[in-house]
Amino acid sequence: MMQLLSGKALSKVIIEEVKEEVIALIAAGKKPPHLAAILVGNDGASETYVGHKVKMCEQVGFQSSLIRLAADISEAALLEEIAQLNNNPDIDGFIVQLPLPKHIDVDKVTLAIDYRKDVDGFHPINMGKMAQNMPCFLPATPYGIMQLLERNGVETSGKECVVIGRSNIVGTPMSILLSRNNQPGNCTVTLCHSRTKDLLAHTQRADILVVALGKAEFVTADMVKEGAVVIDVGITRVPDASKKRGYRLAGDVKFDEVAPKCSFITPVPGGVGPMTVTSLLMNTLKAAKNKISYQEEV
Ligand code: NAD
Repeated sequence: MMQLLSGKALSKVIIEEVKEEVIALIAAGKKPPHLAAILVGNDGASETYVGHKVKMCEQVGFQSSLIRLAADISEAALLEEIAQLNNNPDIDGFIVQLPLPKHIDVDKVTLAIDYRKDVDGFHPINMGKMAQNMPCFLPATPYGIMQLLERNGVETSGKECVVIGRSNIVGTPMSILLSRNNQPGNCTVTLCHSRTKDLLAHTQRADILVVALGKAEFVTADMVKEGAVVIDVGITRVPDASKKRGYRLAGDVKFDEVAPKCSFITPVPGGVGPMTVTSLLMNTLKAAKNKISYQEEV
């Protein structure tokens, strides 16, 4: 029997948990967690994502600050903004919404963020700690996927896992997290990418298939093993004249033909997507609590 891994349902549960924790912090005389977001320029999709993050902060009782910067801001001026957030004791965590304009070096920006406030989990200190199984901020999408697996009781130990896509924000961290000696984890992981030969041979033997390549409906039924767990990370806008907005959102998996073969599968939308913002909220709560524990130590 196929079961849906619903990020929509789980994110509601986690949002309630975060809300409760904020209420408890306030009852203990602490301030609510404060997330800041830097948005450079006015790219439509980025505006939507950041707007949603800010709205979700309000919903759980966090403070939030949106810092809008012009598209032609210099790299030096952006780094200065980041330094100010690093040094501002009122800010528990912050994010710089990607993508950035081409004249700005994204690696420099990532490195400039204080890793203790890096709630996107992109700083190499957090990535390195993740690889060594140390406490850290996990990148939002992989963290959300791990929550979906854990809270739906999906068995991962000893399973063959194939990840398609090796981005820094999804594929690579997923391959690391699922191979660690953790629960979920303990998979035997194969990381596939654009240079992989005979992708089909890999995917056909996957007990767990994580798909993050950004090509609409790329994974077809013949590529999937009977009883597999399929995690579809892709979100692509596909033109669709029957929709008011002119497009529909498609995952990287041909859901209708693949789902009947699966033990578990994430839908698009309503699967991995909603978990990404939830993870950001969990990381921000953790940043605030970490800060309280440093303060109580001194
Ligand atoms: P990316 O676009 O940076 O990279 C794509 C990866 O896929 C590359 O590593 C490439 O080697 C691999 N690839 C491309 N073609 C391939 C092929 N034919 N065979 C095997 N591998 C191939 O990846 P990303 O930023 O991780 O994004 C992937 C998708 O996930 C996009 O659709 C993106 O919108 C979506 N995404 C969704 C969320 C979410 O919250 N649900 C978060 C992040 C990204």
